Amino acid sequence: MKTFSLLFTALWLSSVVGAVCAESKVVLVIHGGAASDRAKLTPEMDKRYRAGLEEAVKAGYEVFKKGGSGLDMVETSIRRMEDNPDFNAGKGAVFTSAGRNELDASIMEGRNLKAGAVAGVTVVKNPISAARAVMEKSKHVLLAGAGANAFAKGVGLQIVDPSYFRTKERWAEHKELLEEEKKKPGTTGAGLSVPSTGEWSTVGAVALDGSGNLAAGTSTGGMAGKRWGRVGDSPIIGAGTYADNEACGISATGHGEFFIRYAVAHDIVALMKYKGLTVQAAADEVVNKKLKTAGGSGGVIALDRQGRVAAAYNSEGLFRAHITESGQVTVKLFQE
Ligand code: ASP
Repeated sequence: MKTFSLLFTALWLSSVVGAVCAESKVVLVIHGGAASDRAKLTPEMDKRYRAGLEEAVKAGYEVFKKGGSGLDMVETSIRRMEDNPDFNAGKGAVFTSAGRNELDASIMEGRNLKAGAVAGVTVVKNPISAARAVMEKSKHVLLAGAGANAFAKGVGLQIVDPSYFRTKERWAEHKELLEEEKKKPGTTGAGLSVPSTGEWSTVGAVALDGSGNLAAGTSTGGMAGKRWGRVGDSPIIGAGTYADNEACGISATGHGEFFIRYAVAHDIVALMKYKGLTVQAAADEVVNKKLKTAGGSGGVIALDRQGRVAAAYNSEGLFRAHITESGQVTVKLFQE
């Protein structure tokens, strides 16, 4: 009798634990950039960012429910944020010091380490789709500038006039930055500045699909006031984006030069693979120790194959959202 009740309790406990784990399994995590100054975020913008993140994560989840791949989920969520002028990707991207929009994006598949990226595109409406096309329809991983624009056009992606990306708000920020540069020469033109709104708002996504495959992607207008021709970490595989089924998927945001030099996304994967760290411990180690010590500001989102989500940032905030297998959404902008 005693053995029977013990067995029964054990079975009951394992089903409860199983249900809790299944419930909390995350299938998609997205970010809308690192934030450097909470005080500058108006309540209205706070609301808009939360709504934009929720809308984008739900769009990716719809793809999951229909049995779509991780790549489809990542591309769908990122396209939504590229089309949303509040984010610094696609429409609403920040300007170079020369007053133009130069966009970077990358995407990677964890099951075979295939990857694609574009840098400095100026007429492609959705750079993340161009990155995916480079991966699937070319022999290359990274195409840049005029060649990337021509490739995107050649594979039939939507091409727009460069003025499409420009918004009134971003242009006003750009003008403000030029004024600052006049007052303190050399402080903004190298791409070291953050928009006056205090947030960078690059976008990214990491997905775990129904077949257990990971995918990750990132898209950005780069850093405000960057020198024209400058390429950040977002289109650099291993820096701004990485996905490996043996570890996790990562998308980064922050001061790109540091993320390139510290190979941030790949370093997190390497710590998991070679040192056996959990996804959160690996992300913390890189973002809150190595990068922070070096003075590199920003953060990452990550997701492992078991659906464990991680966020690590040394900036004041990291705009992010995730959704579980059963459709439960969590949105956070700061520590909350
Ligand atoms: N990492 C991007 C870059 O350096 C900027 C960002 O994340 O906001 O281009």
